Amino acid sequence: MGRTVVVLGGGISGLAASYHLSRAPCPPKVVLVESSERLGGWIRSVRGPNGAIFELGPRGIRPAGALGARTLLLSRFLSLAWIQKCCLSGETTQLPRTGSSTWAVPCMPYPLASGRTPQPDSALIRQALAERWSQWSLRGGLEMLPQALETHLTSRGVSVLRGQPVCGLSLQAEGRWKVSLRDSSLEADHVISAIPASVLSELLPAEAAPLARALSAITAVSVAVVNLQYQGAHLPVQGFGHLVPSSEDPGVLGIVYDSVAFPEQDGSPPGLRVTVMLGGSWLQTLEASGCVLSQELFQQRAQEAAATQLGLKEMPSHCLVHLHKNCIPQYTLGHWQKLESARQFLTAHRLPLTLAGASYEGVAVNDCIESGRQAAVSVLGTEPNS
Ligand SMILES: Cc1cc2nc3c(=O)[nH]c(=O)nc-3n(C[C@H](O)[C@H](O)[C@H](O)COP(=O)(O)OP(=O)(O)OC[C@H]3O[C@@H](n4cnc5c(N)ncnc54)[C@H](O)[C@@H]3O)c2cc1C
Repeated sequence: MGRTVVVLGGGISGLAASYHLSRAPCPPKVVLVESSERLGGWIRSVRGPNGAIFELGPRGIRPAGALGARTLLLSRFLSLAWIQKCCLSGETTQLPRTGSSTWAVPCMPYPLASGRTPQPDSALIRQALAERWSQWSLRGGLEMLPQALETHLTSRGVSVLRGQPVCGLSLQAEGRWKVSLRDSSLEADHVISAIPASVLSELLPAEAAPLARALSAITAVSVAVVNLQYQGAHLPVQGFGHLVPSSEDPGVLGIVYDSVAFPEQDGSPPGLRVTVMLGGSWLQTLEASGCVLSQELFQQRAQEAAATQLGLKEMPSHCLVHLHKNCIPQYTLGHWQKLESARQFLTAHRLPLTLAGASYEGVAVNDCIESGRQAAVSVLGTEPNS
């Protein structure tokens, strides 16, 4: 009988791991287990009343380097329709209505050939290089990527279980895993974990306590994402967006000018889209105080920021507010030691467990897809077809 690999978590990392496993010449049986009813994790795109696309998580993927090129080729393989983005200008612009240190960041082109991993080559990569793409998205929003991956996985015979939170992992006598779900369980020869490190730490058996300790120390911070759309409004500057130093505002992390990067997603009639990211010490203090974090509070804070920093004083025609709890892993001082001690434990105890996902070696979508690919490589012992 062939091997069974259970992949925990249906975010982009778990989907990428399952994709690469399923494309091996002799693929194992793959079961992908996701706790929520939808796949994609933080990648989520919502359509507004005028057809505009609002990204609640990532909004653009960089084509830079070997990892960027691989993601681009993956999206082409899945027949997705991209929107490409070219460079605007190479200079930052000081914002007219803010204090001294807030600058709009231009849509800079990234050097496509950077990095040490061999760069995949194709006509598409050469086109991206020639046209100096800085980032790209998909016509219907980035969530089309996980959706297309799910369709592909199902066609390759991968079992996708949604609405099934993994409640525990235990080791059987023969060295196989028992993966406990709410009302049932799965047996696995190998587990790829693509859920947050702190969540995995709670699921591990007592024998893996040192590993659980290392993983529980990898924390994450929350971000409130407020998508705003304004009819008939214009930005005072062009660019990708701007970051706000905490000395100027402890709560506003920055504002992304979504319409500048991807005007194709402005809907009809088109309206100016911006996203205000709230977080920092302001949000941490609020979370620690235990007070109710209302949608109105975040909306008001975001509208104030858009008004004072970009002159958008009118009422938005559309507004979405989402508090993403523990969404951005923090690679704090000593992160690499935590990874090293986790790796050493896995090797020393020959645990059939591989770690993937944003908790470890990069939070960008490209990094997460690569972590899934690497996990598949280590399980298969060979490079899968890309
Ligand atoms: C607001 C925001 C903006 C971002 N912007 C960008 C951007 O513009 N460009 C970019 O490249 N990156 C961006 N990122 C980063 C990137 O989107 C994330 O790092 C990446 O999507 C994480 O993917 P993941 O699969 O590792 O984790 P997740 O997306 O967290 O997926 C993990 C999955 O595991 C599931 N899960 C959890 N516990 C269990 C359990 N017990 N059992 C089963 N399933 C479980 C979860 O439901 C989830 O679906 C952004 C992130 C955020 C939050």
